[in-house]
Amino acid sequence: MERHELFKELTEAFGPSGYEGDVRAIMARHFSGSMSVSTDRLGSVIGFHDGDAKGPKVLLAAHMDEVGFMVKHVTKQGYIRFLPIGGWWPQVLLSQRVKVRTRKGDFEGIIGSKAPHAMKEEERKKPPEMDKLFIDIGVVGEKGAADAEVRPGDPVVPISEFRPLANGVLAAKAWDDRVGCAVIAELARELGSHPNRLYLAATVQEEVGLRGARTVAGLVEPDVAIAVDVSLSSDTPGEDSDAVERFGAGAAVLVYDSTMIPNVALRDFICEVAEKEGIKYHLTSLRGGYDTGVIHISKIGVPSIALGLPSRYIHSHVSAIYEEDYVALFSLVKATVKRLDGKKLKGILKFA
Ligand SMILES: [Zn+2]
Repeated sequence: MERHELFKELTEAFGPSGYEGDVRAIMARHFSGSMSVSTDRLGSVIGFHDGDAKGPKVLLAAHMDEVGFMVKHVTKQGYIRFLPIGGWWPQVLLSQRVKVRTRKGDFEGIIGSKAPHAMKEEERKKPPEMDKLFIDIGVVGEKGAADAEVRPGDPVVPISEFRPLANGVLAAKAWDDRVGCAVIAELARELGSHPNRLYLAATVQEEVGLRGARTVAGLVEPDVAIAVDVSLSSDTPGEDSDAVERFGAGAAVLVYDSTMIPNVALRDFICEVAEKEGIKYHLTSLRGGYDTGVIHISKIGVPSIALGLPSRYIHSHVSAIYEEDYVALFSLVKATVKRLDGKKLKGILKFA
């Protein structure tokens, strides 16, 4: 499968938190070529490959869920009121297309917005409030949502195609974190030999509080964990022009996020791997969290780190990444897995 096909398949898949089934089927298929596949009881899917039965248990986690919405209720006129799933900024929602999944199938809709002609001067200045927004799936009189049997709890995601832009920039919805899913899916295909017991986990419900990662940690009980996810690019107008986090900066090694300070020896080992292999990388930080936020404090503690790549416009209908950064991230993850053996783990665990 060609890389862009994999990106298209993963980013266009339907999968808000709690409704990851379509993405789970895709990931299970990619894992099954070379790994044994299982799920935990919350819905995460895990591929396992025994590279060395005496080697450390290495867990790579990428979350399958995307930010989306859920039907709250249907108005008498047949419009849908909705709840956000994950972090949304209402400004990016107006006039966007969405897919509503009901027991009668998928329905396309629009998040309605008032025409400027119908707004008072004061109203135009104010950002919209989430609970005032609504979805129109084709309302005539009191028909519309009623005909589709839309019910509270039905999940909703943005409609957005995978599109390569100029210069190797790739636009799609849900790069957060289908990019991590792509990395571990590709890794499963190119596995080869490695000196550890490798667990690739496509997790559920990260966007609502790292929930899937918690149960995966319980199942795997890893010795080392790495989250593969997006970090934030600062190279758009109005951002800090000195920031290191930009398209072309390669793989991101997170030295800090709101949920974790990584294991320092693991961080240094990964930087060393990048330098030895000539892989472009940069050190960065983020306000927010990754799956490793809960994995690293599971049981007696798990040396962990998050790796990412600079992304633009995430948590909206169209986000963007840079293909060369993806290649750097994939290469770094793969090279790390190839080199992480029992001896390295001992060094990582040495605190005295
Ligand atoms: Zn994420």
